[in-house]
Amino acid sequence: MANVRLQGITRRFTNTTAIENITFEVPDGEFWVMVGPSGCGKSTILRTIAGLETATGGNLYIGDTLMNGVPARARDVAMVFQNYALYPHMTVAENLAFGLRMRSFEKKMVRERVETVARSLDISHLLDRKPKQLSGGQQQRVALGRAIARQPQVFLLDEPLSNLDAQLRDDTRAELKQLHQKVGITTIYVTHDQVEAMTLADQIIVLNQGRIQQIGDPQNIYARP
Ligand code: ADP
Ligand code: ADP
Repeated sequence: MANVRLQGITRRFTNTTAIENITFEVPDGEFWVMVGPSGCGKSTILRTIAGLETATGGNLYIGDTLMNGVPARARDVAMVFQNYALYPHMTVAENLAFGLRMRSFEKKMVRERVETVARSLDISHLLDRKPKQLSGGQQQRVALGRAIARQPQVFLLDEPLSNLDAQLRDDTRAELKQLHQKVGITTIYVTHDQVEAMTLADQIIVLNQGRIQQIGDPQNIYARP
């Protein structure tokens, strides 16, 4: 496990500055949430940490390692998007195992990891099904499981619940919280939803127009005046 540290991270495009001078540090094992209006730079920050986007300024550390220029595949980071895409021709078990196979884990190890992850997300009974035989909520749990199966140091989630209906969102949110309490991966989570931010966050980062407006715990951020 590891902390994530951004020091003055900036990303400029030709005509716009997506994020400017972003500085924060998520301690090892904490769950931080980023909120802010559409276009304020949330995805750009996650993508920069994942190595899918290159900062034009600043330094990014995971643990003690400077990550500037390190390609995404060499980072011990998992990311789950809103539009999770499972591999349709693979079973749930194969989907969960995919990242491990890619990294040539031993067969026995793969099976054990898949079983453990399936148990912690309550999808053990679905291992032989194909994605199209699952509900949306079940598919999203498989996507979460696939991301954490290889036990990354950092877990990034970009509005992972926003495509689910209200009931399913409540259930999956509670499961996410339990999952984090069990495995304790350093997590950064983007959402528009105040309830998600309140329930899940150790700390909340409020962004506006590419800059950090405020960092605080949920009580602080959502305190009534
Ligand atoms: P959010 O995730 O908060 O909705 P984004 O990080 O997607 O915000 O975008 C932040 C800003 O950067 C927006 O103004 C967006 O249009 C701009 N932006 C993002 N990616 C690019 C890109 N590849 N080229 C130009 N501008 C971009
Ligand atoms: P999201 O809000 O879910 O990130 P967007 O539709 O804003 O999705 O962006 C989709 C893709 O287009 C992303 O890869 C983003 O970096 C890129 N993008 C966003 N805004 C711009 C822009 N103004 N110019 C060029 N590319 C952009």
